[in-house]
Amino acid sequence: MLMKTIDYIIEAIDRLVNIPSPSGFTKDVMDYVKSEAEGFGYSCEMSRKGGLIISVPGNSDRTIGLSAHVDTLGAMVRSISSEGMIKFTLVGGYTMNSIEGSYCKIHTREGKSYTGTILSNSPSVHSFDNARTLERTDRNMEIRLDEIVKNKKDVEKLGINSGDYISFDPNFQYTEKGFIKSRHLDDKASVGVLLGLLKEMSEKNQKPNNNIKIVISNYEEVGFGASWLPEDIEEFIAVDMGVIGDDLNGSEYTVSICAKDSSGPYDYELTNHLISLAKENKIDYVVDIFPHYGSDVSAALAGGNNIRGALLGQGIHASHGMERTHKKGLENTFKLVKAYVGV
Ligand SMILES: [Zn+2]
Repeated sequence: MLMKTIDYIIEAIDRLVNIPSPSGFTKDVMDYVKSEAEGFGYSCEMSRKGGLIISVPGNSDRTIGLSAHVDTLGAMVRSISSEGMIKFTLVGGYTMNSIEGSYCKIHTREGKSYTGTILSNSPSVHSFDNARTLERTDRNMEIRLDEIVKNKKDVEKLGINSGDYISFDPNFQYTEKGFIKSRHLDDKASVGVLLGLLKEMSEKNQKPNNNIKIVISNYEEVGFGASWLPEDIEEFIAVDMGVIGDDLNGSEYTVSICAKDSSGPYDYELTNHLISLAKENKIDYVVDIFPHYGSDVSAALAGGNNIRGALLGQGIHASHGMERTHKKGLENTFKLVKAYVGV
């Protein structure tokens, strides 16, 4: 029996979050997405900067674009201390509180990886007077490697150097009540939703209204995700997380349609179109303004692409921290994407 699409989406998210992929370190995760898309019978090409473009033939000459980003927050080795601890620099924007205590991996340029834990420089209340008060900044944080190392030389002997990528362990859990808890749901939850779309179109032999190019971007968290787009894309929808919080309407159970974020307003008509589709199809949706946010559409517009752009996605609680969403949010997002492409 064929697997239910929503179950496939959640399983794909589990796989995706467990493949380390801070911005720019996305080869393995792209290979996974590519093999899934090709498995459903769709052709793929890579952009020069390592993004993936999946082509779905439709019933017209028009081409629309959908994007989700597969890169995540992470870090990079800045230096190694004389005690053999690893100092790091951030890849993407997040607070130190959101990663303190997290398990992580260091990926050397020779392809080895080592595990460790992210701690403050005063990591124990038993020994440090300022364990509670030390300001959590990148200069005050370090990584304790799970290796017997006593100094910088010992660490270097492992092949670890400045410039090596660091990924944060996701801690994926799918709970009985339908919650998906994990790091990196921004934006691997949406990559899962788009893979679900491919699976369903392929299995049901459905052709969308227009040709679709699905752009899986790999530098979104650092601001230049989909800054280049194939010339034929006229209309472009970023499928990315909905923000939840102070004076916002979104939740883990709904799909957010974003009218404006830090990069400015989204296309008025296209946003209206998404809202009417949500109403017609009885999809649980909200319209929101994201106060600290940019998307693949923002990057595409800043990159000079001649497109109309809009943004939608499931609400993600505690985004860029210990994130969570719900099966219902994924289902609503999936329904809206399907209504938009016409399948
Ligand atoms: Zn995102």
